[in-house]
Amino acid sequence: MTDIEEYGRRARAWLETATAGLPGEPGLQQAREFMARLYDAGYSGITWPEEYGGQGLSVAEERAFQQAAKDFALPVGVFGIGLGMCGPTLLSLGTEEQKRRYIRPLLRGEEIWCQLFSEPGAGSDVASLQTRAVPDGDGWLINGQKVWTSVARQADYGLLIARTDPDAPKHRGITMFIVDMHHPGVTVRPLRDMTGESHFNEIFFDDVEVPADQVVGGVHDGWNAAVTTLLHERVSIGMGATRTERPASFAGVSRRAAERGLTADAAVRDRLVDLYLRERAFDLLNARMAQEVKAGIAPGARGSVIKLLLADLTLFGADVAAEILGPDVVAHDGADAALARALSWAPGMALGGGTNEIMRNIIGDRVLGLPREPQVDRDVPFRELRVGTQKETGK
Ligand SMILES: Cc1cc2nc3c(=O)[nH]c(=O)nc-3n(C[C@H](O)[C@H](O)[C@H](O)COP(=O)(O)OP(=O)(O)OC[C@H]3O[C@@H](n4cnc5c(N)ncnc54)[C@H](O)[C@@H]3O)c2cc1C
Repeated sequence: MTDIEEYGRRARAWLETATAGLPGEPGLQQAREFMARLYDAGYSGITWPEEYGGQGLSVAEERAFQQAAKDFALPVGVFGIGLGMCGPTLLSLGTEEQKRRYIRPLLRGEEIWCQLFSEPGAGSDVASLQTRAVPDGDGWLINGQKVWTSVARQADYGLLIARTDPDAPKHRGITMFIVDMHHPGVTVRPLRDMTGESHFNEIFFDDVEVPADQVVGGVHDGWNAAVTTLLHERVSIGMGATRTERPASFAGVSRRAAERGLTADAAVRDRLVDLYLRERAFDLLNARMAQEVKAGIAPGARGSVIKLLLADLTLFGADVAAEILGPDVVAHDGADAALARALSWAPGMALGGGTNEIMRNIIGDRVLGLPREPQVDRDVPFRELRVGTQKETGK
């Protein structure tokens, strides 16, 4: 057995014990306690630098852990944005003080993070954002609104992008800040989605003071910081897919089909084989990207390929589940409750982290080298653009 196989074997043994007593639907406190145990056992931040609280190991150990973790339902979803996006952004662009202050509590689940990018008038075109930050004494004062913010109700901190120079073209004049979500000027309102739950929220910022040392990546240089976060987001969504079993996956759907005695039907088998093949191709691409990362080749814009494929695969799995299992599968209770939820959640995969159309644009521009989409507003001062509420007011 190689060292990596031995590492994976130990991780699996640890996960079996650690997940044994967990309830079916762990609450926030139980999720935090689990994350602290995961960290203390050395399985959180496996590849992150030791000086900030990580384990300093290689992508091979990370992958061995993920392979083992795939067979367990880990209550780590609420930490996903911190671990997949905010933490890596801070490691890339944060000051020494920021890294020392925030990384360890993030890895241990003591502090939860959210990503405050999208606004009512700025989603795919997030550079059109209108939330403002103006200098205020030694720091900044933030006013505006964000929307679709996942885990904002649970979050302690958020990475927010705001406009700091409206006279500059829209991609310049933006700054990224670390915002304390417990500040009295921050109001979080849940938004109900079609799963019946409230995964995301709208957030209002009224005179929220942010100290100067909470800027990430330089004043007016927030677009570069945001791109860093988004690259991490796509890779983390795409490559994180192996972490836990999806109910509308081949394993989940074929199990339910077998339980119902449907797998003797040739048409059902045909659909299941199609799902299996797509999943296998996706897993192999994922494994290849992980090996490239290990060899020092960053996925860069190719993270959009894996994010797009995961969205397609998720929607395809949902279609196959609905076709084979029939109308029962939309019921929000009984044996198919997890599947029902997965079906309602599936369309969101084609939107969150950038829509399928935007992923295709990025792949065209940056991976395939096709001509870029025309951008007539690229050099126009933001103040003069008719975007968001500026459309109506002309201001
Ligand atoms: C599950 C989920 C979780 C999310 N979590 C977060 C979060 O934590 N933080 C956060 O900041 N945001 C979050 N979002 C928001 C997400 O990033 C946006 O929904 C997304 O970027 C799309 O923006 P929009 O909804 O404003 O749609 P729009 O940008 O208005 O797009 C509408 C439609 O037009 C298409 N379109 C737009 N521009 C183009 C173009 N140039 N070329 C071709 N087609 C185009 C889009 O593909 C889409 O079909 C989340 C969304 C979802 C669904």
